Amino acid sequence: MKTPTHLTEPQRKLETLECGKCSETYDHLLPQNVCTACGKPLLARYALEQIAETWTRDTLQSRPASLWRYWELLPISNPTDVVTLGETMTPLVHAKRLGATIGLTEVWVKDESRLPTGSFKARGLAMAVSKAKALGLTQLAIPSAGNAATALALYAAAAGISAHIFMPQDTPSFNKETCQLAGANVTLIDGLITDAGRIVAERKEQEGWFDVSTLKEPYRVEGKKTMGFELAEQLGWELPDVIIYPTGGGTGIVGMWKAFAELEAIGWIGKKRPRFISVQSTGCAPIVKAWEEGATEAIPWSDAHTIASGLRVPQAIGDFLILEAIRKSNGAAIAVTDDDIREAMQLLPTTEGLLTCPEGAATVAALKQLVANGMIKDTERVVLFNTGGYQS
Ligand SMILES: *Cc1c(COP(=O)(O)O)cnc(C)c1O
Repeated sequence: MKTPTHLTEPQRKLETLECGKCSETYDHLLPQNVCTACGKPLLARYALEQIAETWTRDTLQSRPASLWRYWELLPISNPTDVVTLGETMTPLVHAKRLGATIGLTEVWVKDESRLPTGSFKARGLAMAVSKAKALGLTQLAIPSAGNAATALALYAAAAGISAHIFMPQDTPSFNKETCQLAGANVTLIDGLITDAGRIVAERKEQEGWFDVSTLKEPYRVEGKKTMGFELAEQLGWELPDVIIYPTGGGTGIVGMWKAFAELEAIGWIGKKRPRFISVQSTGCAPIVKAWEEGATEAIPWSDAHTIASGLRVPQAIGDFLILEAIRKSNGAAIAVTDDDIREAMQLLPTTEGLLTCPEGAATVAALKQLVANGMIKDTERVVLFNTGGYQS
């Protein structure tokens, strides 16, 4: 892909990294993981006032339909550091026939299955690997439930960087095979993503690996926030009433919440926020449990199991940020069963011709539940996230 024309001059826009909990700041010109004071995620902070003065919505019209069109609010300063596999802007499909079957007129699907690497993990890893390249990192390590591993393996290969991948042995074969094909160093473990994370943490120092676990690395969330930018732009800078999002590590919710705050700060949208509905599986629902109990942090889930591998995340380091976004947006967190997910796998294909991943199907199952419970009114605009492609 040729370098988009707007990516010409290096510029100062990212200012600092700030802890999402205690607000301690860190130098973004150095590799950083979590806050050394409290162990929580670091978030990128930009020169928003300056950006507001110089950047207008009109400039987007002449830019390519890719996540890089939001350059001013992305953490890369030098265009030559960009590692891209062609991250297309994903379509927002009006699911009229699906909506009609459940009594809604405004159901929309943000179809992330069109991205490279087979899932929306491409957004986060495109950003993290580009930043790693900018920082001169050559050895990246990741614990993954599956799709993040595939995305890292492919972006790292494209950048000529080594990838060290740790994932459960029962990760979907698509992920295991694609990592092998891309030449990553793959270790399958007897355990879950949290166990894989522990191994990376224990070994990284001695091995010289940089940990790109989500939200322990500050830039994957910057990639995922572009879902919020695209959604706002595609809806004419008018956010929907409800977003239904399949939640594992919660990076997408944290990212979109951040995206909307940044768009408001530069004057591109108003105060309105969609209600964030976080969907998990009843076999692994730490965020739902915390939400139901009114807690501000989640307790690690034991014996996590679900057919939706992206949701098999027993513990999320950004739990407090996910719960804050749900609470402040007047949203909710709900669980669906694996049987609900299996049944919902047919709903978008049969009504709209859209194949879904199990995580995407979980949002359809959740939508049915929310409508049945009266939590969504028939005229409200609802956006479902189909976060990856169908893999047999
Ligand atoms: C990782 C993943 C999720 C969960 O995303 P988070 O933003 O980490 O909560 C959902 N669906 C799919 C297909 C995934 O790969």
